[in-house]
Amino acid sequence: MTVKNLKQIWPTGQTKVSLAELTTFKIGGVAPFYLAVKDKQSLVEAVKKAQTTKISYVIFAGGSNVVFPGRPSTKLYIHYLTNPLAKDALTIGPTGQVYVEAGLSLASLIKKVISQGRAGLESLSGIPGTVGGAVVGNAGAYGQSISDHLLAVEIFDGQVIRWVDRVTCRFNYRDSIFKYKPWLVLGVKFKLTKGNTETLTKKSRQIIKIRQAKYKPGLACPGSYFKNPLVSKVSARSLKLVDPTKIIDGKIPAGYLLEVVGAKGLKQGQMAVVDFHGNLIMNLGGGTASDAKKLATRLKQKVQDRFGITLEEEVRFLP
Ligand SMILES: Cc1cc2nc3c(=O)[nH]c(=O)nc-3n(C[C@H](O)[C@H](O)[C@H](O)COP(=O)(O)OP(=O)(O)OC[C@H]3O[C@@H](n4cnc5c(N)ncnc54)[C@H](O)[C@@H]3O)c2cc1C
Repeated sequence: MTVKNLKQIWPTGQTKVSLAELTTFKIGGVAPFYLAVKDKQSLVEAVKKAQTTKISYVIFAGGSNVVFPGRPSTKLYIHYLTNPLAKDALTIGPTGQVYVEAGLSLASLIKKVISQGRAGLESLSGIPGTVGGAVVGNAGAYGQSISDHLLAVEIFDGQVIRWVDRVTCRFNYRDSIFKYKPWLVLGVKFKLTKGNTETLTKKSRQIIKIRQAKYKPGLACPGSYFKNPLVSKVSARSLKLVDPTKIIDGKIPAGYLLEVVGAKGLKQGQMAVVDFHGNLIMNLGGGTASDAKKLATRLKQKVQDRFGITLEEEVRFLP
């Protein structure tokens, strides 16, 4: 399939788009063909066309949890960000029922629900990306997860558009069924509780302030690189090696494990662990997916050798 053919199928598509610029980690080569879609209908249409023409595709959104390869091998890169001004992208009912289109930014959703006196998402303030991206990774912070008040998710399963309930979503710590199924996340329903706009705004602002101190503007990273290992999944032998005062909510902070093994400041090419947090890898400029992987492998080995614990990536490598 030539670029000319692709242009005929998707006239608004673009050739040779730098993927690095569309991610917070600033890693990735040039996409052969790129299509920006601004609503869920266009997303489904684009994927249906890719299916019938047998063109390989990748979906991404805010680009805040992904790493693209230096030589992208997929034909079509679909970038799904909902127009924030679209009227039907977000509705909030009088009893706290919320419908939001998946491509809307999480920040827009949180701001709007807080302004309507609805609680349950405020602790996620400052997490970059979209609602759909947050659902895929069950994003969370400060004791709250996107799935806490979630009722159902609207999906395109490759055949039809349908709703799946929260049990089907199999939410776990930074995990969901959406990481394993080729489904599109199109919309989400929540049932939020009543709250006080002033109190919620204050909390949201405080959290954003704390986060800004950790993630300085311009820091090229995907947030935490590794997940925090769950105590329930760690052997008793390994657990004996962990300082119990470091365990938070049944999780061992990966940052603590990495700091013990001397991760801070380690470098691989243009990728480096920042000097103030063991679980934060930054791109110094021109860093590659391959260097990120090499650095991560070294870090994992150190933690494995010292604690017998296997770290697992939170960041997602796309083809
Ligand atoms: C500075 C910084 C701080 C962060 N802090 C946190 C934090 O505190 N907690 C936390 O959990 N995360 C955090 N993250 C990680 C990231 O912001 C979240 O994982 C976010 O929810 C990803 O959303 P996104 O729209 O950017 O998804 P993307 O990165 O674009 O995509 C992530 C994955 O979801 C898939 N995807 C995206 N949209 C759809 C869709 N509509 N349908 C199907 N699949 C889809 C993509 O294919 C990809 O596999 C942080 C990141 C940064 C850069």
